[in-house]
Amino acid sequence: MKRNRLLAVLVGGVFCVAVMSLYRMLDTMQGAELQHMETPDGQVENDLSRLQQQIDKLERLLSNNNRLVATLRDKLFHRQASWVKGGAVNVSVDSAPSRADSLPGCRLAEEMKDGAEGVQLLDVYDLLTFENLNGGVWKQGFEISYHGDEWAEQPLEVFVVPHSHNDPGWLKTFEGYYQDQTKHILNNMLIKLTEDSRRKMIWAEISYFSKWWNDIDEQKREMVKRLVGAGQLELVTGGWVMADEANSHYFALLDQLIEGHQWIQRHLGVKPSSGWAVDPFGHSPSMAYLLKGAGLSNMVIQRVHYAVKKHFAQKQTLEFLWRQSWDSSPRSDIACHMMPFYSYDVPHTCGPNPAVCCQFDFHRLPGGRLFCPWKISPQRITEKNVEERALLLLDQYRQKSRLFRSPVLFVPLGDDFRFVESSEWDAQFGNYQKLFDYFDQHPELHVKARFGTLSDYFEALHRRLNAAGTTLPTLRGDFFTYADRDDHYWSGYFTSRPFYKRLDRTLEATLRATEILFSLTLAEMRRFRGDGRLVSDFPAREHFKSLTAGRRSLALFQHHDAVTGTARDPVVVDYGTRLFHAILNLHKVLQSSAHWLLLLDKSQYHHDQSKPFMQMDDVMSAQDALPRKTPLTLSDEPRSLIIFNPTEQLRSSVISVVVDSPDARVVDAETGRPMAAQISAVWAEPSRASSEHFQLDFVAELPPLSLVVYHVTKAPVGSAHRARYTFHRRGNPPAIQSEHFQVSRPEADAPLSLSNKHIQIWGSLETGLLRKLRLQSGLVRQVQVQFLWYGTRTSQEKSGAYLFLPGEEGAQLYSSSEPPLVRVSRGPVFSDITSCFRHFTHTVRLLHLDGHAGRSLEISNMVDIRSEVNRELVMRLVSDVANGNRFYSDLNSFQMQQRRTLGKLPLQANFYPMTSSSFLQDSTSRLSLLSAQSQAVAALRPGELEVVLDRRLQQDDNRGLGQGVTDNKLTASLYHLLLEDRRGGAQEVGGASVEHLSLLAHLTLLSLSHPPISMVAPSDSQVPKLRPFLPLRSSLPCDVHLLNLRTLEDSQEAESPSQEVALLLHRKGFDCNSAPEPSLQCTWSAHEEVNLDDLFSPLRFRSVRRSGLTLLREDDEPESARQQQPPRVTSLRPMEISAFRVEID
Ligand SMILES: [Zn+2]
Repeated sequence: MKRNRLLAVLVGGVFCVAVMSLYRMLDTMQGAELQHMETPDGQVENDLSRLQQQIDKLERLLSNNNRLVATLRDKLFHRQASWVKGGAVNVSVDSAPSRADSLPGCRLAEEMKDGAEGVQLLDVYDLLTFENLNGGVWKQGFEISYHGDEWAEQPLEVFVVPHSHNDPGWLKTFEGYYQDQTKHILNNMLIKLTEDSRRKMIWAEISYFSKWWNDIDEQKREMVKRLVGAGQLELVTGGWVMADEANSHYFALLDQLIEGHQWIQRHLGVKPSSGWAVDPFGHSPSMAYLLKGAGLSNMVIQRVHYAVKKHFAQKQTLEFLWRQSWDSSPRSDIACHMMPFYSYDVPHTCGPNPAVCCQFDFHRLPGGRLFCPWKISPQRITEKNVEERALLLLDQYRQKSRLFRSPVLFVPLGDDFRFVESSEWDAQFGNYQKLFDYFDQHPELHVKARFGTLSDYFEALHRRLNAAGTTLPTLRGDFFTYADRDDHYWSGYFTSRPFYKRLDRTLEATLRATEILFSLTLAEMRRFRGDGRLVSDFPAREHFKSLTAGRRSLALFQHHDAVTGTARDPVVVDYGTRLFHAILNLHKVLQSSAHWLLLLDKSQYHHDQSKPFMQMDDVMSAQDALPRKTPLTLSDEPRSLIIFNPTEQLRSSVISVVVDSPDARVVDAETGRPMAAQISAVWAEPSRASSEHFQLDFVAELPPLSLVVYHVTKAPVGSAHRARYTFHRRGNPPAIQSEHFQVSRPEADAPLSLSNKHIQIWGSLETGLLRKLRLQSGLVRQVQVQFLWYGTRTSQEKSGAYLFLPGEEGAQLYSSSEPPLVRVSRGPVFSDITSCFRHFTHTVRLLHLDGHAGRSLEISNMVDIRSEVNRELVMRLVSDVANGNRFYSDLNSFQMQQRRTLGKLPLQANFYPMTSSSFLQDSTSRLSLLSAQSQAVAALRPGELEVVLDRRLQQDDNRGLGQGVTDNKLTASLYHLLLEDRRGGAQEVGGASVEHLSLLAHLTLLSLSHPPISMVAPSDSQVPKLRPFLPLRSSLPCDVHLLNLRTLEDSQEAESPSQEVALLLHRKGFDCNSAPEPSLQCTWSAHEEVNLDDLFSPLRFRSVRRSGLTLLREDDEPESARQQQPPRVTSLRPMEISAFRVEID
């Protein structure tokens, strides 16, 4: 009965809103008529266009109403669902419906991963002994033998591929390297390649190449094009940088690839076909997926664990088809060449013996700055020595060739920042040419050697393989964690410089939000004007430049010495400054886009850079400072607060602002509806509340991609809900200063517990740290939070920016001489427990929300280890989840990878990168840690999961950086901890080889990674009438993620936005065994086919054309496949990212 009445009330509400809106429509119309009458001269055309605009407005009002009604319907549906569930709070395990039935669409992803073909790297790890035996001249390998007649039938075909590895920042800044080295390399390249058409070169970093392009004249540009056209110069990978593959999020990985490819297409009109990643510290299949999706067919990788390399060399599987673990089809396969030896420099690329190969690095000829550490110098090739030299080199080529299945041999020729001076070009190219000529003159040697590009090599390889009727073996898995020698595992950089790893994600979220809002703004403007043009006062071109600069700053930071935290201190500051400025400039684009979209009367739009209409609520004051909220001055006059929801889901979010009054009230500006709010103290010190500033948190209901306006006003004294506090400190109760809040003494021996309608948690009375979790379903798990320190070794070899080399004793439990202050707050919007330790402040928070946000625990840390020496701080979860030695961590937030903790490996080898998530599971439960920043993760014992929060290391770890990491800062980290009921799952202990996050985890991670963006209108100005912007009728299906809506550059007018937008969608794979209850608000489909017009309704696409992931014209569907008319049905496969070139009407 009660339910029916509520339903009636809600339906009545819907009706009222509809009527009100109709009334407003009429009102607007009248306004239009009045305006009309006031016009003195009857300029017919002018009037007609005004009328057209009014009709447009009406149309939009109508569609806004539709959306409003749809949103209400959504909510009604949700309320109904929760009432139904509410009747049976204690759902028993047995009564739950079978999960597979309740999750249609689940099967899609399940079916895809049914392939067992090929080698799984996890199995290789089980097999290997990791003995590190001395292999002779090839120390990490073995003796290679051959008879000499192996090439009699099919001659050895050698491609010597000149390359120069240019780090966009490491020991010097990007600019520093460019001025000192890179521009000379490229200038000389132009001269030296032109001199002899047999010479070749490959280039990878478009950040440098484009900068150089801007410096050269038209004549030189034509020379570059000729070299590219003639196949002498090849751009490999074509990314903005050679990206790190451990810490980078797939959004940024793809974005830097798009930026590079778009540049290449525009200026050179070509498309990269081979990938080149010789320096990233471990390799991820996510990168392979993106390269394949961008139209590349081949790739080279180098930094792989030496034991894996040796194994692959023995099996002749150094060349393989890299397949995605989740994909049973060959669709995602890409041919991959793994370099067999220690490094990509000359001593380690011609063959197994570095002492010999070094003699063929003619940049090390006697008299120069460089020499061979093996103490045998190179010799200039003369008529006298050419035979002896050629045979010596051929022996290395032949030995190396024995590690591969085809008689085609790939020999890179280069190193870091090589080919700077003209003389170096002459030395390398001249001497090699003499050797090649010698081979040509001696057919009895059965070898053909020449300079080549990467594509030259791969073409020959595929030709030979096809001729022999063989294919490459298939491989699945990833290449983490990398070790280059001994027990030197590169797991330190998964956490090094965590402040910037977090800032990277802040820029990423800001960029994505800005891209989407900017693209929608341009589309709305064109529609509003009706003639396809933009509003003249809107600085579209200037904004597009800011967007481009933002893309490039994020792209640059994906470099394998940037986001990795492995650059010198001044270079880190340079990167930080770029990230910081990018965020500031993107904010301006965001503000003026929102300004235009929100204005009810668009004629009031005026752009004034010096006087922005809105300001960001979160403000960063410097590149190394955490964002702070600007305190709002409240009065009886409403302050407008504008919230942008950058996600494609309707969500309930807690919005937090700082105000100058303990009494405040928030209403939805459109409806006048008051929002649930809570006032909390701003703690100036752990036990001293600020008397000037207060934190106002309220619950915002945000439709997908919407801009919603709220009004904040000062409220009557005592009318706002204030948080209540209790403080705990063992032995020494603190003195509390908080005049505006109720502070009560904790009841003796009462357990420390918080709960909302989904979860109950218990914390330790001594430390406040989490002890136990209980779900509404009855599932209880022990989950203890601990903090620990790792030290480093006492021996010569110590931890540094790259390496994690912990001391024998392992982790030591964090202890402090003084017990921590524990502060518990309780309120209607959220409740939390904060533990204040000397080196960190740790908070666990429960949100009192209905939606998915209420089902996980928010964990935040504020860490400061600047007082420490050679220490690393970790947060460890100790649970009773029976996961055995298996756990899962994500790769670039794109896919989950199973991890096996192996006793045969040292502790540091069992740490893996976590870009955004990790979980443990057994047959009844799954515990997921979702993260807003990249960090190292490990599960060293069953039930445990730990992340490294910060590391302070005083020394260099001998990988060339030449310094420790001691520039630590006050660093924030943020997570959601999600416990899920899991029934009918996990046949294998700890889980199957391929698992996905649950839908609930996906949604939680989406909210965590893309928080709402708050802006405030200044208090002094008269705010014109605003109305919410609601571009989508309903949420996207919850397994479809709008990765980006990225305006493409105009093909005619440089640095200007075109009408074309890259629509990037990622359909996520999800776990079938953890159906959320009550069910989620969004829907998902059991089919691959999706109707794009429905998905984005009422947005209208003028055209939709599927393309490659980097939107190259050559990858576009043929014109005939271009979908001009709705319904535009396209297939979105689970796990796949799809790219479309669209024009939004
Ligand atoms: Zn490098």
